[in-house]
Amino acid sequence: MTRRSLTLLGATGSIGASTLDLIRRERDKWRVVALTANGNAGELAKLAREFGAEVAVVANEAALPALREALAGSGIEAAGGAAALVEAAQRPADITVAAIVGCAGLAPTMAAIEQGRTIALANKEALVAAGEVMTAAVARHGATLLPTDSEHNAIFQCLAGNSYDHVRSITLTASGGPFRDWSLDQLATATPEQAVKHPNWSMGAKISVDSATMFNKGLELIEAHHLFPVGLERLRIIVHPQSVVHSMVEYRDGSTLAQLGPSDMRVPIASCLAWPERMDTPCAPLDLAALGELTFRAPDEVRFPATRLCREAAEAGGAATAVLNAANEVAVAAFLAGHLPFTRIAVMVEELMARYVPANPVSLGDVIALDAEARVRARALLELA
Ligand code: NDP
Repeated sequence: MTRRSLTLLGATGSIGASTLDLIRRERDKWRVVALTANGNAGELAKLAREFGAEVAVVANEAALPALREALAGSGIEAAGGAAALVEAAQRPADITVAAIVGCAGLAPTMAAIEQGRTIALANKEALVAAGEVMTAAVARHGATLLPTDSEHNAIFQCLAGNSYDHVRSITLTASGGPFRDWSLDQLATATPEQAVKHPNWSMGAKISVDSATMFNKGLELIEAHHLFPVGLERLRIIVHPQSVVHSMVEYRDGSTLAQLGPSDMRVPIASCLAWPERMDTPCAPLDLAALGELTFRAPDEVRFPATRLCREAAEAGGAATAVLNAANEVAVAAFLAGHLPFTRIAVMVEELMARYVPANPVSLGDVIALDAEARVRARALLELA
């Protein structure tokens, strides 16, 4: 049996762990090419040894000596820095899982795209920041993007075999996050500890905060806009607190197809790893009778303005979505560090979008420069706050 090869960008994170859990269950079917992290050299080395990776890369070069030491005698290459990350992503692999958090994942993801690879894309910020630059590169290099975000994976499955011409609307479901029933006064006092405690999903800190602000759903709206080109006006969001229906596609004949499943990222990840086949996961089957009822309600953009801001950015184009993403990353980091109140995250994003309106980027270099400039300006806004 030929083993399939895999590169995992962001191996030490939450998506990384879910991916490796699936690979661990069928070790004989997989060969691991590259595993990457930012600075967590100890965990990365442990994983590289367990999976017999060809190369382990830390993006933060300061962590390279620790990685080298931890891999001494293993025969596994150790590398560090931005160029090493890109080089690792360029190595041949049957599938590349893009699971770095934030725009930091853009350059290695684009490197895999430029090699025409098949990419399981969890790193939504890369697509939100690069937009048309990324989708054009996918088309130019004959790469394949498999959506790994549970909502986009659901839509991808519901679209299978159908033409966009027949789609009336696509609806992304949102859990609403841990604060979905909080008043504006309560939201003003929300702490990082409360924000990262998601009711349904176990995820990294940044996406957990995004879920609490609803920026996660807004970023997903922009992501869907690029992945499924049916037009922004056909993309909807609905709050579905149980996170069982992961998204839906409505067709012109009135049929709505939905994908349901447990709130466990191993399901959409498995769908990408095995695509176009299927593979087993250890997830407990859905027990709809035990769940009893599934509920839905319209989002509240007064308490959670993020989805409105994301829609406006998507309407404005590539520069606006890159600025929005950078501002949100800076604001979330400040909130997690205790320097910015929860409700100021969206305010700061809206302020930066109003003040910084650059030209739309046309190359990867443009996106990276725009992202860097937006971060400098976002940090300056923070100082003023
Ligand atoms: P985590 O924070 O758990 O993990 C992030 C990973 O990225 C880690 O391996 C981390 O390394 C690495 N990393 C962080 N910063 C950098 C950097 N500057 N350069 C290179 N690598 C870096 O995130 P998640 O796994 O939760 O999320 C990953 C992506 O997947 C995000 O884009 C998120 O939106 C998306 N996603 C996540 C879901 C989830 O359930 N978690 C669901 C759907 C999408 P280190 O450990 O060394 O810091």
